[in-house]
Amino acid sequence: MRIGVFGGTFDPVHFGHLLPVEAAAMKFQLRRVFYVPARLSPHKGDTKPTDARHRVAMLALALEGRPDWSIDLEELDREPPSYTIDTLRAVAARHPDDELWLLMGTDILAGFDRWREPEAILSIARIAAFQREPFAGANVRVPVVPGLADRLSVFDAGSVKISATDVRNALAEGRSIGGKVPGPVAEYMTKQGLYKPGMSQR
Ligand code: ATP
Repeated sequence: MRIGVFGGTFDPVHFGHLLPVEAAAMKFQLRRVFYVPARLSPHKGDTKPTDARHRVAMLALALEGRPDWSIDLEELDREPPSYTIDTLRAVAARHPDDELWLLMGTDILAGFDRWREPEAILSIARIAAFQREPFAGANVRVPVVPGLADRLSVFDAGSVKISATDVRNALAEGRSIGGKVPGPVAEYMTKQGLYKPGMSQR
């Protein structure tokens, strides 16, 4: 069975985390997808994300009704920063007979050569990278890593011009986030007062 592994900060989860994964699951016949929230992102320096309990709660709401997709708490249980190679080794140990596919946007792929043990990652998983605005088309940078070309599929999942930064900024400025996150996630953020200036959320 093919399993997609999709890491991120998910601060908060939005449709850019859902629609491209749906497209990848269809295209590559991924029977399961594990969403792996990072404790701290090695890609995002020192910025501290929102409390994991909120990020996980929002992910759970976003994944409601999709029994094949689940949240993997692997990285939240380990000391930060979260390295993908450690996560993949743990997932592979739990699913020795399955084929792992690492999912990511092309913005993240561009820095793949700076990840910890990229060649070991490629020995465990294939990579499916979906194009991300404004990184789509000619701007896609595929780094030079031995073995990457054979294990990589870059595809156009239909561009979704949303980032978590947009969502946080919109909420902080009192602008609408209509259509950027699933309804239950929007309700949760409102109820919990997340991302509003002056509210304690981290
Ligand atoms: P932030 O704005 O805080 O940097 P983000 O929206 O990029 O957050 P992450 O949780 O950092 O979200 O992203 C997790 C993964 O989702 C990454 O692989 C990223 O490339 C991908 N991703 C996020 N938004 C989109 C989008 N709109 N289209 C395609 N891929 C996306």
